[in-house]
Amino acid sequence: MSFVIRLQWFFKQRWVHYLLAITLMSGVSLLSTIPPKMIGTTIDHVKNGNLTLDDLTRTVLTLIGLALLFYVMTYIWLTTLFGNAILVERLLRGRLLTHLTKMKPGFFQRNSTGQLMALATNDILAIGQTTGYGVMTIVNTLVGSTVVITMMVTYTDYRLMLAALIPLPFLAVVINMLGQRIRKRFIAAQTSFGKMNDHALESISGIRVIRSYVQEDHDLAAFDHVTSDVMNKNKKVSILNALFQPLISLIVGISFTIGIGYGSYLVLHHELSLGQLISFNIYLGMLIWPMISFGEFINVLQRGSASADRLDNALSQQPDIQDIDNPIQLGDSIASIEMKKLTFTYPTATQPSLQNISFRLERGQTLGIVGRTGSGKSTLLKQLLRQYAVEPNTLLIEDIPIEQIAMDQMKSFIAYVPQEHMLLSRSIRDNIALGKPQATDEEIAKAIEMASFTQDIASMPDGLATIVGENGVMLSGGQKQRVAIARALLIDAEILLLDDSLSAVDARTESRILHQVRMERAGRTTFITTHRLSAVSHANWILVLDEGRIIEEGTHEELMLLGGWYKEQWERQQMEASLEE
Ligand code: ATP
Ligand code: MG
Repeated sequence: MSFVIRLQWFFKQRWVHYLLAITLMSGVSLLSTIPPKMIGTTIDHVKNGNLTLDDLTRTVLTLIGLALLFYVMTYIWLTTLFGNAILVERLLRGRLLTHLTKMKPGFFQRNSTGQLMALATNDILAIGQTTGYGVMTIVNTLVGSTVVITMMVTYTDYRLMLAALIPLPFLAVVINMLGQRIRKRFIAAQTSFGKMNDHALESISGIRVIRSYVQEDHDLAAFDHVTSDVMNKNKKVSILNALFQPLISLIVGISFTIGIGYGSYLVLHHELSLGQLISFNIYLGMLIWPMISFGEFINVLQRGSASADRLDNALSQQPDIQDIDNPIQLGDSIASIEMKKLTFTYPTATQPSLQNISFRLERGQTLGIVGRTGSGKSTLLKQLLRQYAVEPNTLLIEDIPIEQIAMDQMKSFIAYVPQEHMLLSRSIRDNIALGKPQATDEEIAKAIEMASFTQDIASMPDGLATIVGENGVMLSGGQKQRVAIARALLIDAEILLLDDSLSAVDARTESRILHQVRMERAGRTTFITTHRLSAVSHANWILVLDEGRIIEEGTHEELMLLGGWYKEQWERQQMEASLEE
């Protein structure tokens, strides 16, 4: 039942289709009781010696006509029903993806990629099957058995019918027991399938690391373990499935034995004609399919409900951070950004990654953030993206707390070049135009020029149309970084966040790009985190972080005078640079 409730939006939307399919299916069931009766009558005519040629011709023509009619009706209900099953799969996949795009990092930490892929493939398939095959089997069971039993009672003998159906209640009990086990085992199998997906994903994306550490055998063994687990769990499901069929055959066999035995007794005592006995046995045969259908229905329904539960679980998770009611809309530009004693701890961490951070930046200024690895630089930038909740009133945009500002609008102000660059397996042009697909060729050429990528394009096999492969495998580390920078510069945002975005290019290219960025973005706000201090020496203000705290701050000149970590690091880097030259 829960399955129907979960999918009621779909059944409501497509009820006309379902009504048509069910009506036609029922029609076929009803009409298919006619032939056995005609056969029985004909046999009685033969036995009594009063069969006329006219009767026989009429019977034969009716049978042929019915066969043709069944063909057409069955075709229509099959295509209607299974067409909808395919449609529901499509709709659910769309819903799932829409939902995923709204989720924040916390969600993806809780739900692994492999499990989400299992949802999008296997689980949605199982749901689709329940709305198609499942509906077909239940209608078959209900309509098929009702019609056949009615015919048995009306045209043959109710005592015979009752006797032959004695074994049926046992079937119901066993099916119910098996059904619940199937559901449990199926959930286990799907979870295991998700884990296998995760492993496959990791092995493929990490293949180069695995190879370079000569861990192929180890990884294969681990994968083997995971696939065996999937196999075993699915085997357990199929063992239960396999128990259904023989059980049904057994019950049907007993029914036939009773039917023939008791039926012959009734014929001998002249309470039933031979033709009626034959009709009865044909009807009994027609009951097999509804019974098998019932088993199949329970089976498919259990899988479908298990999958619907899993899918619902993912879909019901709300984004970790949501807009407040009536969020504030800002104007076209952002006059200031301020942190006031901001402290932040990742949901899964025990230690805060940022402590007591305060600074104020006016529009047009550049903030440099430096510090040892793991000191909290990336975490500081991510606060502006609102991937995690921030303490109220600690991060202010134009003196308004960020939690009161519409998230979509805030996002539209920011161009973010993450530390771990993410390229899609599309052309370079598409990768750059990701945030502005309608960009003109001139705009793209300008962004590429600013990112110092023009010469690299010339050496690519297909220029801008070169496909970069999955996550940009075709490009060097520095090229990937510059594609990511060109992408960010193209959208010409109010706020630019560069998270260690030039670590893989040489110092000269870096200073050329930063010069371009300064010229082009005059009047807009920029955040730069870096390990190479020359990248922030022009910044209006520089924060030096250590273990999430600001240990030094000021302009380049002030920090040099201060003579702390910054000065020491600067001098070392200058010396290294001159040695390299
Ligand atoms: P790097 O120079 O290496 O990029 P960083 O200064 O950018 O370092 P952050 O990435 O901000 O450092 O990390 C700061 C601290 O927060 C680290 O101790 C890190 O372990 C922790 N941290 C980062 N991301 C997460 C996360 N998603 N969950 C829990 N802890 C995290
Ligand atoms: Mg970082």
